[in-house]
Amino acid sequence: MPLRATAATHPKSNKSNTTPVNTVHPHPPPLQIDLSNLSTFKAATSLRIIIIGGGIAGLAAAIGLTLTGHSVTIFEAVSSIKEVGAGIQIAPNASRILERFGVLDEVLRDGIALERNSLRRWEDDGEIGWVGLMPGVGKKYNAPLLVVHRADLQRILLHRAQSLGVKIHTSSPISTIAQDFSPSIRLSTGEWVSGDLVIAADGIKSFVRSQIAKKMGVKDETVSTGDAAYRVVIEEERMRSDPKIRELLKSNTGVRWMGPGGHIMAYPLRSHKLYNMVLIHPIRPHQIDTESWTSPGTKAEMLKTYSGWNSTVKQLLSYVPDDGEVMEWTLNSHAPLKSWHEGRFVLIGDACHPMLPYVAQGAANAIEDAAVLTIVLGMIQSAEKIEDALKVYEVIRKERGEAIQASARDTQKILHLKDGREQEERDRRIRESTVAARGGEKKGNPDLWADLRWQEFMWGVDVMKEAAERGGELICSSSSSSSAGSVSGSHIRVQAT
Ligand SMILES: Cc1cc2nc3c(=O)[nH]c(=O)nc-3n(C[C@H](O)[C@H](O)[C@H](O)COP(=O)(O)OP(=O)(O)OC[C@H]3O[C@@H](n4cnc5c(N)ncnc54)[C@H](O)[C@@H]3O)c2cc1C
Repeated sequence: MPLRATAATHPKSNKSNTTPVNTVHPHPPPLQIDLSNLSTFKAATSLRIIIIGGGIAGLAAAIGLTLTGHSVTIFEAVSSIKEVGAGIQIAPNASRILERFGVLDEVLRDGIALERNSLRRWEDDGEIGWVGLMPGVGKKYNAPLLVVHRADLQRILLHRAQSLGVKIHTSSPISTIAQDFSPSIRLSTGEWVSGDLVIAADGIKSFVRSQIAKKMGVKDETVSTGDAAYRVVIEEERMRSDPKIRELLKSNTGVRWMGPGGHIMAYPLRSHKLYNMVLIHPIRPHQIDTESWTSPGTKAEMLKTYSGWNSTVKQLLSYVPDDGEVMEWTLNSHAPLKSWHEGRFVLIGDACHPMLPYVAQGAANAIEDAAVLTIVLGMIQSAEKIEDALKVYEVIRKERGEAIQASARDTQKILHLKDGREQEERDRRIRESTVAARGGEKKGNPDLWADLRWQEFMWGVDVMKEAAERGGELICSSSSSSSAGSVSGSHIRVQAT
């Protein structure tokens, strides 16, 4: 099913369907990007974009790029796009983009705005400190923080992509790409498909990343983080007769229990009808060689792992159905790559920055990747400039993504300290930071997710605005250094509003 070389425009686009793709506009009109109404920002040239992978990264990219006038086709390996039954936190840096992509209202309807996050001790459930969230965070960052069921988020993104006209082919695993990184991929049927650009949103086990690493002469190595995670979702029905646990379910509070070698993050979901728990613990020897992928665990094994933890945790876990599925993830990472793009291929999401979930930013950063690509690919005047746009994408995203990735690793050590001097010092600093925050002061919190300054970096930076404001200039300088005499980005004047 070759992608046709005719322009496929978004239905709302005022571009003529007969406009050939890759037309060079020697004097492009100045652009003004109204980020609050993205559909008014039409790409200077409509590109044929192939996306490998229909997870959060792939779907978000498809939405942004279709909204701005490109023709997008997704190839997804699995037969049906759906997510696992667990929760995900949407931080303000992601929710601000979801709003521009036209899906935030729906996500908010299905999500819960947490008011606070309580940091507690593993052994006795004692509160060490807490962090205020909504509505304060929403006001500060002009974007909400919420938790939502992953299946709901995936469904909302999928429907939005479909309604915009994104073509989605499921049961389409891609295992061969053009050796010279020209934008062609081969389907399992043997058929080759070509476009102007291939976006690899194929997750932590990315096939495309392995090919890029090979081309760069670096080993595409999996690095074990030493941790694994159980994800459980408990139904209200099962805890109906337990007032203490029901109080947790009905409150707008997230809880982080910290203990030796592991921690637990828990919060209510779906109108407080479900209680979501992510339980992180050291991997078992047989899990060392597997990548971040789900495998069925057992309730008995999980209860044994947390047998020394406080009665609230044990009580909660007792409500997990005996015969129910307890999914377990081994959490792995990859050494950072020299570059996130090669030729006409670019990596986004877990394919280029797989993260430990300790600062809850993996999906948020995948959404940022999608947003920045949307802006920079909209600015170029012809398909010949795609590689310049990819360089700009990397300038805006790579350092930031890797800094957040590193902060998740640092947080791992802090959250998992054994009881002793270091743990006491950590707890003292958390207490101090909680008291200071109440008085409007920012005092460092060793749990970086809860640290007010790190939050400003994670949640406050608007990468889309940055791409809109700096992209034209960056593309221009990238163009002049890579190909003399080409259409200059200096024709592009942008102003993010
Ligand atoms: C326990 C846990 C808790 C987390 N909590 C949070 C949180 O609260 N907030 C947050 O922001 N992030 C969180 N994350 C991280 C977040 O889940 C991931 O970063 C995000 O889902 C990555 O999305 P993705 O689309 O890049 O990858 P994936 O979701 O892995 O999607 C990749 C897709 O590509 C497909 N694919 C793979 N190979 C091929 C191929 N060769 N051909 C075709 N298709 C292919 C796959 O089938 C899949 O659908 C958490 C992660 C874990 C493990």
